[in-house]
Amino acid sequence: MHQLGDNSEALREQVFEYARTRLEYNPPPLDGPQSPEFLRAAAGKTITEAGIGGTAALNVFAEVLAPATISTDHPNYLSFIPSAPTEASKLFDLIVSASAIYGGSWMEGAGAVHAENEVLAWLASEVGFGKEAGGVFVQGGTLGNLSALVAARHSAKRKLVQGGKQMPGKWKFICSEEAHSSLKSAAAVMDVEIIKAQVDQFGKLTGAAVEAALDGNTDSVFAIVATAGTTNFGIVDRISEIAQIANANGIWLHIDGAYGLAGIISPGSRELYAGIENADSFIVDPHKWLFAPFDACALVYKNPAIAHEAHTQHGDYLDVLTETGDWNPSDYAYNLTRRPRGLPLWFSLATHGIAAYREGVKYNIDLARQIADVIKSREDLKLVREPELSVVVFEKQGWGINEYNAWSEKLLARQQAFVVPSSHHGKPNARFAIVNTKTQLEELVKILDSMNE
Ligand SMILES: *Cc1c(COP(=O)(O)O)cnc(C)c1O
Repeated sequence: MHQLGDNSEALREQVFEYARTRLEYNPPPLDGPQSPEFLRAAAGKTITEAGIGGTAALNVFAEVLAPATISTDHPNYLSFIPSAPTEASKLFDLIVSASAIYGGSWMEGAGAVHAENEVLAWLASEVGFGKEAGGVFVQGGTLGNLSALVAARHSAKRKLVQGGKQMPGKWKFICSEEAHSSLKSAAAVMDVEIIKAQVDQFGKLTGAAVEAALDGNTDSVFAIVATAGTTNFGIVDRISEIAQIANANGIWLHIDGAYGLAGIISPGSRELYAGIENADSFIVDPHKWLFAPFDACALVYKNPAIAHEAHTQHGDYLDVLTETGDWNPSDYAYNLTRRPRGLPLWFSLATHGIAAYREGVKYNIDLARQIADVIKSREDLKLVREPELSVVVFEKQGWGINEYNAWSEKLLARQQAFVVPSSHHGKPNARFAIVNTKTQLEELVKILDSMNE
């Protein structure tokens, strides 16, 4: 029995109609989570031998499952780092889904890979890398950081082998105490050590701190990671100082810009990233602040040949691909089968032009400054740090975690906003992460007002 191909035209129309409804939400519903018990009872059994039928399954999704998810592109979704894809990028994601395009190899996906590479080349040029730079869109920043660090260690190993030198007992990399948790995960997976360098009073990793961390470790440190936009505060490390030390010691410099490297395209913010052209690799997540849908991280190497050597998988059935000399995206990260997930961004960039992206990012940076000014003007609020990009962190006088939690729950319950508490050095605070061009100052002010109800 072969019934898998027999989708009715009616179902196709129902699905397109529902997709249209979702695309036309303005704003999308915030909604919110439900308990497993609730969902089990409300959704009923959907996976059965006979199947429940597409119409029934679509109804379960529309009426039960979707309302139990939070729309990250609601303009007042300000927690974590949200995602606010353009309509063009969402539309093209539908096309990617409607086409079974394999994005891992040139042989199978040349056209898609060409378009993805055009976007990567643009990002590389914004950073100041040369024409030979290249990389791949991986699932997320966690995988991007891991893949870059694996390439960095491979490069360090190769140098030692070529120099006839001994391998260190334990490989290490340096990052700041404000760096993202994914680096700790990468270190655990790679079985390497992290040397945590201190940040200065502005939350930035400095050249001096890296130099101190490097002291006595030059033989075992294979990478230095600078963060271009910390997740907590949106602070950019002092890249030019750090790059000088990395370059002088022949150590790979990786830039973790998953959230904040997008800020480099904003007119007026470029100097925050000075010296970044001297790095060896970077990541930036289009699903964070380049208005693209989940899930995409652009991973770019200055010298992709080393990454190729570190990551290419060899196997009898793959050699027909790997031995061609073609550009195969799979060979540049810890991945093999991949969706051409850079295409939604490609389409949206091609549609709107780079200038619209520069304006979108700048709008968010300006908005963060404006709401920071409002916070500073209020006696009951304290701005924890001046925002550099689009994250604003503040405290409410006299509040402990219970007050923040109650406030956060109230905002979601009445579908006004999604703002979960954060903390700094053990002290709870409120945090706005602004990456949506539909977010409005008046709405942010109302959220501040709601703390006094
Ligand atoms: C979000 C983030 C990551 C992890 O990216 P994912 O796409 O969530 O895996 C890494 N580094 C920084 C600085 C981040 O903000």
